[in-house]
Amino acid sequence: MKKLAFGMMRLPLLDENDESSVDFEQVNKMADLFLEKGFTFFDTAYPYHFGNCEVAFRKAVVERYPRDSYVIADKLPLFSITSEDQLEPIFSEQLERTGVDYFDYYLLHNVSGFSEKGFLDVDSFGFANKKKEEGKIKHLGLSTHGNAEYLDNILTMHPEMEFVLLQINYLDWESDGIESRKCYDVACKHNKPVLVMEPLKGGFLADVPPEAEKLMKDYNPDASVVSWALRFVASLDNVCMVLTGASSLEQLEQNIEDFENFTPLNDEEYEILEKVRDIINSNITVECTKCKYCLDACPESINIPKIFDLYNNEKILDPAPWTPVGNAYLNYSKLPSAGIASDCTECEMCVEECPQHIDIPKVMKDVVKTFETEYYGFKE
Ligand code: SF4
Ligand code: SF4
Repeated sequence: MKKLAFGMMRLPLLDENDESSVDFEQVNKMADLFLEKGFTFFDTAYPYHFGNCEVAFRKAVVERYPRDSYVIADKLPLFSITSEDQLEPIFSEQLERTGVDYFDYYLLHNVSGFSEKGFLDVDSFGFANKKKEEGKIKHLGLSTHGNAEYLDNILTMHPEMEFVLLQINYLDWESDGIESRKCYDVACKHNKPVLVMEPLKGGFLADVPPEAEKLMKDYNPDASVVSWALRFVASLDNVCMVLTGASSLEQLEQNIEDFENFTPLNDEEYEILEKVRDIINSNITVECTKCKYCLDACPESINIPKIFDLYNNEKILDPAPWTPVGNAYLNYSKLPSAGIASDCTECEMCVEECPQHIDIPKVMKDVVKTFETEYYGFKE
């Protein structure tokens, strides 16, 4: 199977202020092109476009193509589940909306601190395993925005998971907050193939600073900025599928072209991407170099560089109530004995240690406002 998946999270809209107003006609054309070019993997989820993502898939694909010409992935929305009796109705609704009799791939959606009620208080894993035994699911896996340790624990507890969907892109690869590389390594350790989400970091890597773009264009004038990001993830041996989330026919055309002519990155290109990463990181909000000199100074055990890494990541995304980074902060906050930003007593012991002279207590206040919101269950 070719490595490009049609991620249906950001479909074209008729009204940009209405997430449910999917432009079904354009989605039909996108699906036609995708299948015509020999790609087959569609990725949907229960909450995308308030349910219209699953409907768009049915209209564009299920009602117009034979069942053996495509594969579909759907996801159980753990973050919406608070009781056992929701499971069967949601699963039935998903089958009805998509119009299929079974899912080729089914994922427990975002297994992390954000959704723990949905799989600790309710046996969602057991439910999904039962659906697999019934033949309603062919392959069962999970997606997560948790960190590497979290993923390791989950895969140890649930060896029956066949694959994982992870956030991986060249900017997050070595990020202390997102831990893309570490999560990828955990998946490899557990022998789980990896599907990739956010290869462009929510579109951020489609529009890099001019000096970074110049580096890419000087090396290869014909390669788009996007193609560098896609080739980075597709070059990873254990990545079997990349979800791109195209929002228009033109974007999908470009993604298809990139994957049709795919060649793995060479050493020189990896070096260029490292420089690109440095340029992007030099334009960030808090100029923390992650030297960790402040770590031992904090009596509240606040992992300052980790928190600043998450904060910087959040600041380059569009504001939204839920973001993968906010989710990662919530996971961090649940670690035993981890100090969080609101634990900061403004003692300033860290400030003396910081070679970058960052006003750490001041930034911590903004970190609290950014992440410790009621939405994530913090008391404001
Ligand atoms: S000012 Fe805040 S972050 Fe810095 S050492 Fe004191 S408690 Fe820790
Ligand atoms: S000492 Fe300053 S630069 Fe170094 S990790 Fe701490 S906050 Fe970042």
